[in-house]
Amino acid sequence: MAKIFWVVCPKCEKKFYASLDDFRHQDRKMMCPFCQERFLDKEAKEVIDVDN
Ligand SMILES: [Zn+2]
Repeated sequence: MAKIFWVVCPKCEKKFYASLDDFRHQDRKMMCPFCQERFLDKEAKEVIDVDN
C-alpha cells in the first residue's frame, strides 16, 4: 500500500491525503481535489504525518 500523509490546503483549508514518496519534502506541487489549488508541502496550511 502506498505511503501517505495528510495535508491541509492553504486556499480552501480542506484536508486530503497525498503520496508520501511523491510529495513530502519534494519540490513537486500537489493539487487540492476540492479547489484545484497547487502547492508544495511547505506551503500547506498544515501537514499531518502519520505512521505508515
Ligand atoms: Zn483547496
